[in-house]
Amino acid sequence: MSNKLTGTLFALSAFFFLLLSGCQTEDSSTAADGKLTVVTTISQIADVVENVGGTAVDVNRLMGPGSDPHLYSPSAGDVTRLQNADVIFYNGLFLEAQMEDILEQLGERKTVIPVAGTIPENLLLDSQDYEDEFDPHIWFDIELWAEATKVIRDTLIEADPDNADTFTANADAFLAELNELDAWVESEISRIPADQRVLITAHDAFNYFGNAYGMEVMGLQGISTASEAGTADVQRLADFIAENEIRAIFVESSVSQRNVEAVQAAVESRGWNVVIGGSLFSDAMGDSGTPEGTYIGMVRHNINTIVPALLGE
Ligand SMILES: [Zn+2]
Repeated sequence: MSNKLTGTLFALSAFFFLLLSGCQTEDSSTAADGKLTVVTTISQIADVVENVGGTAVDVNRLMGPGSDPHLYSPSAGDVTRLQNADVIFYNGLFLEAQMEDILEQLGERKTVIPVAGTIPENLLLDSQDYEDEFDPHIWFDIELWAEATKVIRDTLIEADPDNADTFTANADAFLAELNELDAWVESEISRIPADQRVLITAHDAFNYFGNAYGMEVMGLQGISTASEAGTADVQRLADFIAENEIRAIFVESSVSQRNVEAVQAAVESRGWNVVIGGSLFSDAMGDSGTPEGTYIGMVRHNINTIVPALLGE
């Protein structure tokens, strides 16, 4: 509750800034080069827009490597970028908790699209943190991310119909890659013995992943990193890991690893050694220009980290 309140206050102050800075900077957008200017929140969305938009769009991502979308509040520069965008994509489902109000305000006068917006509710998982909210981490179910890709394709076509053929062809190619990735993930996970298919991470980002690929998933912090992990959570996880002789647990690039290390120490005091199997990309991707700086590369990195660690290789 207090998290939501803080979020509202942040967003309100950003909104007033937006009012004060006025409309004079409006629309340098489709500007000089005639390209559509697209702004996204998380990098996972920016990557899809770059794949589908190709050279016909300029993509600006607000959240880079290490950014935590649950806690992210827009800077003054972000507000200007948002104001100057032709199209804004965000995840929705309360992922960008501190930006909900400002995005809603901007949505009254420009194209602001939650990429999770068209996913049927029966495919969404409940949030354990917020009543009446869904779990926002849909990009970990590759089939759901394909749905988000179609939303992005259709929005770009509507915003720039002259490039419809390009957007359609690019989206078809990317969807084919996602399809291939989905099959690869499934076959890699099947190498882990059924009783070791347990993914324990810093926060509850991987429920869609577990649901899609048949892994039990446990996070130390909740769906949002705004909720702190308590001593009881550490002890509960440590009991589970020691009893089930789980080989590895994982840290995340956008979340402090202090809590995961506390679990590891608590497991050790129970007479079982669990290793930290590596760092996963959850809510943020890797550096741009590296394979992990793309959506597909990030998923591959995670699988190539999880599978060998749980196999004890
Ligand atoms: Zn998260």
